[in-house]
Amino acid sequence: MPEGDTIFRTATRLRPCLVGHAIEAARARDPSFPAGTLVGRSFAAVEARGKHLLMHLDDGRTIHSHLGMHGSWHWYPPGEPWQKDRRLAALVLEVPGSVCVCFSPKVLKLLSSDQLRRHPQLAQLGPDLLAERVDDAEVLRRFRVHDRTPIGEAVMNQSIVAGIGNVYKSEILFLTRTNPLTTVGQLSDERVLSIAHTARQWLAKNLSGYPRRTRSALDGQRLWVYGRSGKACFVCGQRIQLQRQGDLGRTTYWCPGCQGS
Ligand SMILES: [Zn+2]
Repeated sequence: MPEGDTIFRTATRLRPCLVGHAIEAARARDPSFPAGTLVGRSFAAVEARGKHLLMHLDDGRTIHSHLGMHGSWHWYPPGEPWQKDRRLAALVLEVPGSVCVCFSPKVLKLLSSDQLRRHPQLAQLGPDLLAERVDDAEVLRRFRVHDRTPIGEAVMNQSIVAGIGNVYKSEILFLTRTNPLTTVGQLSDERVLSIAHTARQWLAKNLSGYPRRTRSALDGQRLWVYGRSGKACFVCGQRIQLQRQGDLGRTTYWCPGCQGS
């Protein structure tokens, strides 16, 4: 599942393929996406903002993608077979030396500079946990606006902090021994910041490797609680629980022994 670390890594890998290169061919599955107008343009920058990927063109427009639960960007040398079904390709960009393909995105839009600036989700994004510097006071201020919200929902709210998805949510709350149903208002400033710092630390650690892990034990188990409903907690042996949270009913995995209070 693409979270902040995946998007950051995707931007890092796509950047040398795209920046400074002109688009030789572009095809979009959605006929309303003006792929033809991309030909001849080149890329000025590739940027990750939380879970959003922004590819800035030299004419001020930006290709904005959000990969949702199942999307991905792939890049191949020309002529190399693709690892996914061609029918799932939403956008294909051919540049010298590479073919970049966006499969199954949740969002794929071409934005003008005005639309980018006013974009409701992008404009509201909280501090990106993978940015070089993160302002703790700003992180805290944004969490405190949501004092009545359970922390398991708040950490996923990208207008508070950007980058945490469903896997990190469960893992970070376990690592900081936080009950996901506790409201933000019940947590001290130190606890809230320790959750943000722990998330930042693990997002950054996972930039260099895949698959994602939050455990370094050598038993082959990469995650503490995510996807382990009904299994024994590695720390206390109690059964990991599954809880649905928020309007979207996103799954939170947690240990009642370690995260009871
Ligand atoms: Zn436990």
